[in-house]
Amino acid sequence: MIRDNDLLSWTQVSWAYKLLVLGIMKMTDAYIGFGANIGDSVQQIFDAKQQLLIRSGCVEPELSAFYLSSPVGYSDQPYFVNAVLRCSVSISSIELLNLMQAIEVDLGRVRDANNRNAPRTIDLDILLYGNQVIESPRLVVPHPRMFERRFVLEPLREVLNDNHALRRSVIESCYALRNCNDQILHPIQC
Ligand code: ATP
Ligand code: CA
Ligand code: CA
Repeated sequence: MIRDNDLLSWTQVSWAYKLLVLGIMKMTDAYIGFGANIGDSVQQIFDAKQQLLIRSGCVEPELSAFYLSSPVGYSDQPYFVNAVLRCSVSISSIELLNLMQAIEVDLGRVRDANNRNAPRTIDLDILLYGNQVIESPRLVVPHPRMFERRFVLEPLREVLNDNHALRRSVIESCYALRNCNDQILHPIQC
């Protein structure tokens, strides 16, 4: 028989374990943008998220709502589905990028070298990695084009920590982009 005292001590143990894990492993809140516009875009984003959770060992994931967005840059293609995931990772930013690119390949992403805005089964971008600024040949964080993109900022805003250094800029840019007729965005039920 489980008594109240047993439940209490289990709760305490589970919190102690969590604090221990967070203390020993240096955890960073990563913000990952998802986009897809070929095939079953919603399912592909769910699949990519699931792969990321399993293969990155991240904890405390929180996924934004899903949005339907008009294509930006190259308009002769279907609407996109977008979402943003926040999760706490112990792997480095470059390990995270490697993993994300492996997941893209596994889910059938084929890059069009001549068109960066081409349709895609799945695209994963690192939007933010903690409060770090990264400028390496393969990785630039914050994502260099995120402040121009309403389809990134609206879902990001939903999951962004209150104390993040860029929170205010994200919210202000979100409001500014709501006036852009070429950045149509609709939340969708999944
Ligand atoms: P955009 O970057 O404008 O959203 P895209 O996502 O379609 O375009 P990709 O073809 O997926 O572009 O990526 C091109 C390269 O961008 C990748 O090979 C990767 O090394 C680099 N890259 C630089 N910074 C980032 C980042 N923050 N997240 C993901 N990839 C990045
Ligand atoms: Ca992208
Ligand atoms: Ca990308």
